[in-house]
Amino acid sequence: MAARSRPGPRFRSALAQITGYRAGRRPVPTPGLVTFKLSSNEMPFPPLPSVEQAVVAAATSINRYPDPASTAITGALSAARAVPRDEIVVGTGSVALCYHAAQAVAGPGDEIMFPWRSFEAYPLLCHVVGATPVPVPLTSAEEHDLDTMVARITPATRLIFVCTPNNPTGTAIAQTRLAAFLDEVPPDVLVVVDEAYIEFAGHPSAVTDADLVANRGNVLVLRTFSKAYGLAGLRVGYGVASPDIAAALRKTALPFPISNVAEAAAVASLAHAAELGARIEAVVSERERVWAALRHAGITVAPSEANFLWLRLGDQASDFGRVCDEQGLATRVFPGEGVRVTIGEPAANERFIGVAQTLRK
Ligand SMILES: *Cc1c(COP(=O)(O)O)cnc(C)c1O
Repeated sequence: MAARSRPGPRFRSALAQITGYRAGRRPVPTPGLVTFKLSSNEMPFPPLPSVEQAVVAAATSINRYPDPASTAITGALSAARAVPRDEIVVGTGSVALCYHAAQAVAGPGDEIMFPWRSFEAYPLLCHVVGATPVPVPLTSAEEHDLDTMVARITPATRLIFVCTPNNPTGTAIAQTRLAAFLDEVPPDVLVVVDEAYIEFAGHPSAVTDADLVANRGNVLVLRTFSKAYGLAGLRVGYGVASPDIAAALRKTALPFPISNVAEAAAVASLAHAAELGARIEAVVSERERVWAALRHAGITVAPSEANFLWLRLGDQASDFGRVCDEQGLATRVFPGEGVRVTIGEPAANERFIGVAQTLRK
């Protein structure tokens, strides 16, 4: 039945710019072929039994609202990261915290800067708050162009995102370079350091969140349980920042962000960091294996510190994505630019290497 156009509300003009977040595609079911979803940077492993038990136990109290202050996970994070409780803010995934940060500091007439290409939520949230997006192209090495970002700061700049390792390129910013960048940003501009994939970074950062935040009142470091911790379906992310920034983000958040089920799973995950660490190591070693195989096949692939690889295929991107689909592999295609592929289980990675080897050079 054709939808009939009915008189309705007058929407904000900014909504016309918002295409909606494009989620990773599911694989196309193919008879006789095991398919793999390599389009959302999820972990391929099911939850740890201990985490599943915590979820089941928490399910018995879902008739009650959760703790509005998320005391248990805030306390566990405070202990795990060695930062005071009032410097931690939690949200329904770190993407929510990106939005809350924008709502806290930016509105119409303000500028929000971010590297591009990077996380697709950044330009969307600019339009949601009515701010002007200022994308700064990556360098030819697929890295943040931090010098240009500094040069493009204006009196209207209210928020800058950096994404390390960057989604979708996998490139990371050296901590000393990041610190030097932060020193150049005016203290009244909020910098969000989005570390959604930091647990996969090969070189453990010399500077911890605590150090990054300690002497700076304008930095918010974001982490998530969705990627390395394997809890994408439960939506828990957190930020580390000054108490003032954390308090501002709590004001712009919706009440009761973290469900009791999600909170229990996150607390249990922190308690089993060693087991999860082994999974992270397995993904990292697969990443290195796949990367080496692609390079060996003559394919241009950026060095990655995350759980995915970026193939800058230009005009070949869409065709290659289609071939992957036909082989039961859902990847993330950026038409005309490249393809991002998540490192999955070895069988998925092996099949991906085989498909990539058919690329014409
Ligand atoms: C996946 C991702 C996030 C956040 O994911 P959540 O599930 O909302 O925690 C944030 N930033 C980047 C760059 C990501 O890729």
